Amino acid sequence: MNQAPSPRKAERLVAVKGMNDILPPESARWEDLEARVRALMRRYAYESIRTPIVEPTALFVRGLGEVTDIVEKEMYSFEDRLNGEHLTLRPENTAGLVRAVVEHNLLYNGGKRLFYMGPMFRHERPQRGRYRQFYQIGAEALGFAGPELDAELILMAHALWKELGLQGVQLHINNLGQPDERKLHRAALIAYFEQHDAVLDADSRRRLHLNPLRLLDSKNPAMQAVIEGAPRLMDFQGDASRAHLDAVLDILKANGVDYVINPRLVRGMDYYNLTVFEFVTTELGSQGTICGGGRYDYLVEEVGGKPAPAVGWALGMERLLELLKTQGVQGEPNAPDAFAVVTDKNFLPDAVRTLEQLRGAGVAVQLHASADGTMASMKSQFKKADASGARFALVFGADEMAGGHLSIKDLRNASTPQRTVALTDWAQWAQSLQSHA
Ligand code: ATP
Ligand code: MG
Repeated sequence: MNQAPSPRKAERLVAVKGMNDILPPESARWEDLEARVRALMRRYAYESIRTPIVEPTALFVRGLGEVTDIVEKEMYSFEDRLNGEHLTLRPENTAGLVRAVVEHNLLYNGGKRLFYMGPMFRHERPQRGRYRQFYQIGAEALGFAGPELDAELILMAHALWKELGLQGVQLHINNLGQPDERKLHRAALIAYFEQHDAVLDADSRRRLHLNPLRLLDSKNPAMQAVIEGAPRLMDFQGDASRAHLDAVLDILKANGVDYVINPRLVRGMDYYNLTVFEFVTTELGSQGTICGGGRYDYLVEEVGGKPAPAVGWALGMERLLELLKTQGVQGEPNAPDAFAVVTDKNFLPDAVRTLEQLRGAGVAVQLHASADGTMASMKSQFKKADASGARFALVFGADEMAGGHLSIKDLRNASTPQRTVALTDWAQWAQSLQSHA
């Protein structure tokens, strides 16, 4: 457009409601968590997978179930303007991961253990611990039917809480049994809720005959008493289903993991069977579930693959980080090891070459820079060095540079004498700058 530049300031654009910028220094806490998770996954031999953020809408409708909160109310779905395809921003990553596993035949020679991290999208009412773009870390084991995999995944999450220093996270477990057992329970559930029709909200009334299990997942406080008294899945289960959960619990007991059997726990997606579980805290108000998962032995087939059992979980990064903050657990500090003070433009080529050598040796170094591109006074550069949190200042001043030197000043310990070292000897003194050296 050929418009003259407006004399007024441009209108400020802001982020979409419920979608957050993750700014420094907060972003360092995120990266610290991600690094710990990657190391943890390695120890349990889980490999990383990255799937697209946009998937065909049908994947979620079929995978998660048509009568679920996510599919009915929360999906960002749209039609591609260019070719009319029905697409959706992923509200979770299990369906996409299973699609990828099937599409690329990853189970051709046995099972796979996989993990992912990334943004998910749900059109919910934004509040503490509930956003429209939020981040999940998930782990999934596909192609293994045994209860030791359910236990392995639970132990892995438990190990993460321990490593992070989290306290008071409770493990809730339930057994959803198998589809034929669910059918019997379903009939009992419908009969029960029909008797309590008066307390059901409109959503629940509509869902009663479509997907009665969803009523158990309702967050409506007015319905909780009736939900409490509803027929329990466990009472409809046969020996094989019971044995599966018992075997999971035996492994947890042998590893000292406490749990609570919660017969009302059903989770929000239709794809689960047998074991379902959640890690919950009472410290985050009503958004208290930090991690949820379970077995989903029929999803691979649902997405068009050869039948294969599977189990997994996903954790919400915002809730986990918020809980860590509530409990006063600090992440890695964000500060560089050293801050470079350079007093004259002419020193920059040699100074920057030295910084590059230091960085090559693993030292984190920040170079002073000013808004207008001029060299600030020594005093003002030292102020910035202090504020950066760096342990050391590297001083490239006139006296130093005349002899091919720099001075190292310990900013956090005034009694340490300043040292002058030769630039060419960098390999000898570089290690002494590293905070973890
Ligand atoms: P909730 O019952 O709180 O809505 P959910 O059962 O819908 O959770 P899952 O789909 O199982 O959640 O996702 C796993 C985890 O992802 C949750 O336990 C939570 O920590 C996180 N999570 C889910 N939805 C959101 C959201 N809108 N904002 C932030 N975190 C979320
Ligand atoms: Mg939800």
